[in-house]
Amino acid sequence: MGLVKTRAVVIKSQRYGEADRIVTFYTEKLGKIRGIAKGARRLKSRLGGGLEPFGFIDLTIFEKSPEILVRISQVDIINSFGKIREDLTVMTAAAHMVNLIKAITPDRDPHSSIFNTLIGGLEALQDEGDPELCSLVFQVHVLGQTGFRPQTDHCSGCNSDIEVAKAQFSPQSGGLVCRSCRERIVDRCFPMSPGSLAFIQQARRLPFPTVTRLRAAGQIRREVEEVIDSYVHHVIGKPLPTISWWAAEPSPPAYTSS
Ligand SMILES: [Zn+2]
Repeated sequence: MGLVKTRAVVIKSQRYGEADRIVTFYTEKLGKIRGIAKGARRLKSRLGGGLEPFGFIDLTIFEKSPEILVRISQVDIINSFGKIREDLTVMTAAAHMVNLIKAITPDRDPHSSIFNTLIGGLEALQDEGDPELCSLVFQVHVLGQTGFRPQTDHCSGCNSDIEVAKAQFSPQSGGLVCRSCRERIVDRCFPMSPGSLAFIQQARRLPFPTVTRLRAAGQIRREVEEVIDSYVHHVIGKPLPTISWWAAEPSPPAYTSS
């Protein structure tokens, strides 16, 4: 309790009341938290400029109790990742990343590996490259780090070996399924070619920024995108919003969670 200083990434920033902002962060020391920045929308505010979405900051907060919104005391920008906001495709990929972190991580459950992946993903987006592919490999990493590693080594239902040429991925089971397990699954499964399986296995193994050197096109890309989208949808219970129109967002009604 009291003053806490931690590195953080801004994952959502909403207007609140006349001049305030309510901001969701993924922080290194506390995991996902929400805070109020009093007067952040006033012209002379010291806080406003550091609370842009995707910003990587040194954050100082004051907390009285872990249940309520923390008070944002100070923000020092480490990297604003300004280039991300200059291109809609890159911004959409970044929004995908932070929306996944927001949806999949519980409040106040810090994980340095997830934090480092988030920084690595945003840094990779700043560089030239393929933003959609970057977002895709980011999702593979975060799924693994949050206990939802896509199982591509053997059947996720019964552990038996999989006939690679006939592999089917079940979002409901969280991985490949053999023919007999497949028969018991009601939800849709997705055929996966050996190339798509190899891509996911490599994406899982390689760290950022090395993982962004992976390339996928054509059928492999379509298969991997479809499988990861469907699996993320299953894990978080809804499709991942592709972009949040931060500035146009209406004020939230009250200090409620989520
Ligand atoms: Zn099986």
